[in-house]
Amino acid sequence: MGVREWRRLKRIPQGSVENGVIRSYLEWLTSIPWPNSTRLKTRPFLAAARAQLDADHFGLEKIKKRLIEYLAVVRLKEKASRGPFSCKFVGPPGTGKTSLGQSVAKALDRPFQRISLGGVRDEAEIRGHRRTYEGTSSGTSVSQLKDTSWRRFLALQGGMEKRGRGRRGGVSSTLLEVLDPEQNHTFNDHYINVPIDLSQVLFICTANTLESISTPLLDRCEIIQLSGYTYDEKMHIARRFLLPKQLQANGLDASQINITEPALLHITTRYTREAGVRSLERAIGGVVRYKAVEWAESLDGTAQTQQQEGTSSRTSVSQLKEEERRGVVYGLVVMGQGEGGILPVETIAVPGSGKLKLTGSLGDVIKESGELALSWVKRHAYDLCITNSRTEDPLKFPDPIDIHLHLPAGAQKKDGPSAGVAMTCAFVSLLTGTCVPANIAMTGEITLRGRVTPVGGIKEKVLGAHRAQVTKVILPWANRKDVEHDVSPEIRNEMEFVFVRTVREALEAAFGRGTLGWRGESLLLESRL
Ligand code: ADP
Repeated sequence: MGVREWRRLKRIPQGSVENGVIRSYLEWLTSIPWPNSTRLKTRPFLAAARAQLDADHFGLEKIKKRLIEYLAVVRLKEKASRGPFSCKFVGPPGTGKTSLGQSVAKALDRPFQRISLGGVRDEAEIRGHRRTYEGTSSGTSVSQLKDTSWRRFLALQGGMEKRGRGRRGGVSSTLLEVLDPEQNHTFNDHYINVPIDLSQVLFICTANTLESISTPLLDRCEIIQLSGYTYDEKMHIARRFLLPKQLQANGLDASQINITEPALLHITTRYTREAGVRSLERAIGGVVRYKAVEWAESLDGTAQTQQQEGTSSRTSVSQLKEEERRGVVYGLVVMGQGEGGILPVETIAVPGSGKLKLTGSLGDVIKESGELALSWVKRHAYDLCITNSRTEDPLKFPDPIDIHLHLPAGAQKKDGPSAGVAMTCAFVSLLTGTCVPANIAMTGEITLRGRVTPVGGIKEKVLGAHRAQVTKVILPWANRKDVEHDVSPEIRNEMEFVFVRTVREALEAAFGRGTLGWRGESLLLESRL
């Protein structure tokens, strides 16, 4: 192929467009590294990998163990001259997926390339364009291969599930050709148009959730899941890894800044409510830069500063005031990225005619939960002493009002039935004027007759609540087993769990037993039917 092109090149006048096209193709072809026999070095690389992972990452014991097992298999397959399986990290942002991949590359002494697949719509982006017009080039995998000038590189492919709609099928099957050890020794890039051996490339992919990745692709991967850190782990990561990294990045050394333990705890707990440590790293970076400016100013003699004072003075100023508010209740959610957290359900009463208005990018199911919750509250308004007779509509008397319910983060789509309990509590709080303390969060679907039914994502939700310093969670009775199985004893010991069967039990748990004025016991009998 190359020889034929070379002959053509000699016949075509220099400076012509076609001459340029052929020339750059040949340059490409000759720069692709062709098979050679380098194998993983014979030194005890598993021990080296373990040491590197430990040096770069706190905790993650199970993950590191899985990774070492995976590398052992890679090694064995290599002995049998077969390409490695790719491996895939799945977990919320900032939980260390990329940096684990980097550590593996360092340990194996392989060049490392990051390939971002976020937004790849067309298979040509991976496979390249046919060489029919000027300006075409090879696809991502092959370009990266050229860049490293070495075929045994380690590629980290990020954002696998973020691919746009478009021709998804094509993209998935092309990716499979790149990743699958059974097929990738003869990968056909459209531009190069000569089979290329990708089988010695070690692919590590990252994604936030498993959903929307095609099944054949999943089958070819070793999946390693990361779920997020507790406060305690975050504190250690911050002290041992993030702070030194930020100090180095900002040209300070450890003696110039003293972040006290309470100050660090404050940053960890108040400033960030994520599963990973990205915002924490950013927040620490902010503090370090603030100190760096002070230092620079004091060197200039333009400001008198006390360097040893630490950051506590600054961070305490903006301490969030957690106040109890009427009509606001914390619900538990799992975001699109597989990360659990708390989300306030906000309600207010506005002059109107008895209608319910729902905002915050809500889907049909969650909107129906809102209607259900309001109907339940209207039905029991008399029992809850909101109205003075069973026939009175609390939205019409004494003044006609509309209720507006909003779930913040308006740009993020929300759906699902699990906000039923929280919405009911928010309406009750709004109409009775009684508040739910801010250390309580809840999840659960409700039925029209006031039963509470189970919901999904309990582990993520509880972990998210713990991160947000919620100390009491209200969950459906039928989700008891999920907490026992999926939530670690340390977290279970630090939080109070109330499992409820009915809306009434949920209200008692949220507002405190005896806080709401119930009329008689009729409701209790009815709701236990
Ligand atoms: P992801 O790829 O999962 O979004 P990153 O790998 O980019 O996350 O991690 C974000 C930052 O947090 C990086 O600076 C990383 O080194 C750091 N980090 C994450 N987990 C740990 C850990 N267990 N120990 C030390 N640093 C960590």
